[in-house]
Amino acid sequence: MIQLPGLIDPHVHIREPGATHKEDWDSGTAAALAGGFTMILAMPNTRPPVTDQATLDIALEAAQIKARCDYAQFLGAGPDNLDDLESLAPKTAGLKMYLDQTFGPLRLDDMTLWMEHFKHWPKHLPIVAHAESRTMAAVILMAALWDRPVHIAHVSLREEILLIREAKQRGVKVTCEVGPHHLFLSELDIAIIGSGRSEVRPRLAKVEDQEALWANLDVIDCFATDHAPHTLEEKDSQTPPPGFPGLETALPLLLTAIQAGRLSMDDLIQRMVVNPRRIFGLPEQPETWIEVDKDVRWEIRAAQMHTRCGWTPFEGWNVQGKIKRVVVRGQTVMQDGEVFAQPGSGKRIR
Ligand SMILES: [Zn+2]
Repeated sequence: MIQLPGLIDPHVHIREPGATHKEDWDSGTAAALAGGFTMILAMPNTRPPVTDQATLDIALEAAQIKARCDYAQFLGAGPDNLDDLESLAPKTAGLKMYLDQTFGPLRLDDMTLWMEHFKHWPKHLPIVAHAESRTMAAVILMAALWDRPVHIAHVSLREEILLIREAKQRGVKVTCEVGPHHLFLSELDIAIIGSGRSEVRPRLAKVEDQEALWANLDVIDCFATDHAPHTLEEKDSQTPPPGFPGLETALPLLLTAIQAGRLSMDDLIQRMVVNPRRIFGLPEQPETWIEVDKDVRWEIRAAQMHTRCGWTPFEGWNVQGKIKRVVVRGQTVMQDGEVFAQPGSGKRIR
């Protein structure tokens, strides 16, 4: 049995408000605790999207009543919210800019709007960009021009991780995260998972991209799940929405990779605790830890999960390493898959 700090996931889609049949603050934070995450940062592409004081209040009120782990809520960059940025910023996890195709209506195409957001968002608070390929190159240039940090969400391609390496070497304030699904799955898995179910943005990439992420592990600052639940009925429909659940599979997959010698336990702690805390300016969680049995072998089964969406792209995978207990502020909040934390016991950290 080993003890690790409570994990931090800086990229979670809770689906409340607007799509609580997929997930809400209750089920999503129960899934977080079951996966060893004691703090999550929630994305703003809900319905309605979180872009102003009124919509931020809706999300935070739901979280206050239902959240079982600690949390903060991102604000979405929109065409109309420039005037509110400075006053709202301190109440949020950060600003999320959707610059490529995603789930929901928040995409910003006009680069003059990107510039305005870079100008108005306080420099000491994070900007996270969904920016793939050439869009990523553009947003890294913008970070360099304004000399402010930018965090790139879910890097998936070889060209992207190589570009971020070059930018970091030249002193650009860029950090990045990679999702477990891009580390453990490639387009070769689409036939196994099924075409609708394997829809995700960024898409599952080529094996050479997947291998490049592992080969450039030193460039990756965070592992973030991009937990993006949709129901099986939606995933198997004619118009499958993009996204995978990930909160309850991330740690077992990475522990299995540690057993296989692909990374060290310290690599994991840096990317799931130390770096997210530093990049997003998050507080320490006192008397908070998780206990892991690193030897137990088991099979991933969606039926045993807490996420409301009811499936996982890793169904049937054999993994080694299981979360036995989660302790938050001295209280046992999860043990052997059972969540004891009450809705509303999670603390808002900003
Ligand atoms: Zn996302």
